Amino acid sequence: MKITRIDVFVVKAPLETPFAFSQGWVHQRAATLVRVSTESGLQGWGEAFTQGLEPPEIAAAAIGHALTPVVLGQDALSPVVLWHAMYNRTRDFGRKGSVMSAISAIDIALWDIAGQHYNAPIAALLGGACSTSVQPYATGFYRLKGQGEVARLTDEALRHRESGFRAMKIKLGFGVRDDLHVMHSIGEALNDPEIELMIDTNHAYGRSDAIRLGRGLADFSLRWYEEPVAPEDLEGYAAVRKALDMPIAGGENEHSLYGYNALFRADAVDVAQPDIGSCGGFTAVRDVLSMAQANGVMLNPHVWGTAIAQAASLQFIATIPVTHHRLDAVEPILEYDVSSHPFRQDLIAEPWQMVNGRVAIPGKPGLGIEVNTQTIEQYQTQHQTFSL
Ligand code: CA
Repeated sequence: MKITRIDVFVVKAPLETPFAFSQGWVHQRAATLVRVSTESGLQGWGEAFTQGLEPPEIAAAAIGHALTPVVLGQDALSPVVLWHAMYNRTRDFGRKGSVMSAISAIDIALWDIAGQHYNAPIAALLGGACSTSVQPYATGFYRLKGQGEVARLTDEALRHRESGFRAMKIKLGFGVRDDLHVMHSIGEALNDPEIELMIDTNHAYGRSDAIRLGRGLADFSLRWYEEPVAPEDLEGYAAVRKALDMPIAGGENEHSLYGYNALFRADAVDVAQPDIGSCGGFTAVRDVLSMAQANGVMLNPHVWGTAIAQAASLQFIATIPVTHHRLDAVEPILEYDVSSHPFRQDLIAEPWQMVNGRVAIPGKPGLGIEVNTQTIEQYQTQHQTFSL
């Protein structure tokens, strides 16, 4: 089934209220989306993950200039073959970052097409779903000023509990003192051991401060401590992991089976967090899952994109076997970004929601979504078409 056309869309919306994480201020939500069309008429959607500070035009350019020549005219039902073709073509200037996000977008779209062709959700193509629903956790706690927002962040935690979340991830990395102040205030206000807490500093610290923060939170039984140090400091990860008892998580800024191989060899993490929209799509995350299992590492995908990326994450999460098996084994949880996003939910016809604290895995073919192209038209700043 020949790939006949690829549409690349850059969509953007400025945020009414910009917010900060430890690495900078986020002024807009943006995404790079692709639609792959085939000679049979089937179309698949994909998304390149756009970090808060990442211009979406980079992945769009990589798709247009580097990837469309590789995949146009090729068989849409061979995503693994095309993944390696795209990776080999871009190795000398890719391997990480926006080029890998570009490969991810095409790969997701090809799996979406395969699902529609075989009339099966992607989870079924990957070997079947271990679960039919997933528990979401609230990702939020961004800063509107910077330091000294303890009261507002504590209110936010109470609000998430009110909305039904039983797990939440607090953004830290604004100085160890400020971080500890925030956590103690949230811990006291929630005062509920049933609510799972995670922290994420977005690699704000060097090794000693990262360890100092972790030691200050030793009593919190955190589910995980995310990105304690810079993603390339694998020895730093291992040092932090050795110094602290809590599970260390990371990987949203790591890519492909090759990048993850280095992470696992360094004994860097307890929880691996590939983002399907940037690690290399379903094809790569499938490899990463096998490697994680073999290394005794839990895999819990990262996702911060639009509804397309969330759909991909839901399909994949369903297929993850528990890593440390027991009767009440720990299952992966779904990152559920509750920060402001003008078009995330409007992008699909049936946005999912949390019902009784769970999100159902869509059971329709492919990604299981219907994309609203009017929403794309409303927010698009770039639309390029490449065809045979
Ligand atoms: Ca993160």
